[in-house]
Amino acid sequence: MKVIRAKSAGFCWGVERAIQVAREESQGGRRTVYTDGPLIHNRQMMDALGKDDIQEVGDYQSKKKIDFNEENTKESVVVVRAHGISPQRRDYLKSLGLPFRDGTCPDVGIIAGKVKLHAEKGFSIVIFGDPEHPEVIGLMGYAKEKSYVVTNENDITNLPDLGEKVAMVSQSTMFTHEFKYLSNLLSDQYPDMLVFDTICGATKERQSDLVDLVKEGADAIVVIGGKHSANTRKLAKLAASYERPTFHIETAEDIERLDFDNYDTVGVTAGASTPEFIIRKVCERLESL
Ligand code: SF4
Repeated sequence: MKVIRAKSAGFCWGVERAIQVAREESQGGRRTVYTDGPLIHNRQMMDALGKDDIQEVGDYQSKKKIDFNEENTKESVVVVRAHGISPQRRDYLKSLGLPFRDGTCPDVGIIAGKVKLHAEKGFSIVIFGDPEHPEVIGLMGYAKEKSYVVTNENDITNLPDLGEKVAMVSQSTMFTHEFKYLSNLLSDQYPDMLVFDTICGATKERQSDLVDLVKEGADAIVVIGGKHSANTRKLAKLAASYERPTFHIETAEDIERLDFDNYDTVGVTAGASTPEFIIRKVCERLESL
């Protein structure tokens, strides 16, 4: 079977950078690295990082109190994930008394900067995103009671009066067309609203590469990534919208349970948290069919 691989499949630069930060701090496992929630939404990669004593503490949303392993006598360090955290969480993590290293993706840092700056100037901040996602939770911390999260048209309709000064940003991994649609809708009510398209370049590239896979003749699309990875799930949703059978798989082993007999060409893409070794195995397995 012919396999076309999307150019952007796999780690985005922000995830790669956060992994590099954690690995640098671990010094080959000589130090324990505690990440505030899973560093990456990929079980296989988390297992690999565990060998360098990079351990997840806290919770996915970076909300819970952290209990460290008291029996661990090794030098330890706390590392912040690519999603970033709220300023309140930053203060909490720093108060724990361990060395602290920030792996926040600079693209998320730019969104946080815009939220902070405009909230301080008295703007109401509307964030297009998932209110349960750690990136959005972190961003909300910069605007506190002035932040409003919207995911759909209904949420826009239900917003209270936002006052005269309104700014809108997006979680970095949302769909561009949805952000445009919702920001236009809100701009009708608030013509002076400032709109910042903060969907990151890596996300936009992944979305446009999917269109290329379809154009290049993919009969079906395989999306590789953790079932819990928000950006992988979104990619699978977008692929399905192009009316191609779409298979969201985690590893090459999942291919055995699927039927590819009816397809000559398969397009392969992967979420921002999917490691290269898994993508390569999946492509090899599909090519051998
Ligand atoms: S998806 Fe974008 S914002 Fe998120 S870590 Fe990757 S590059 Fe950074």
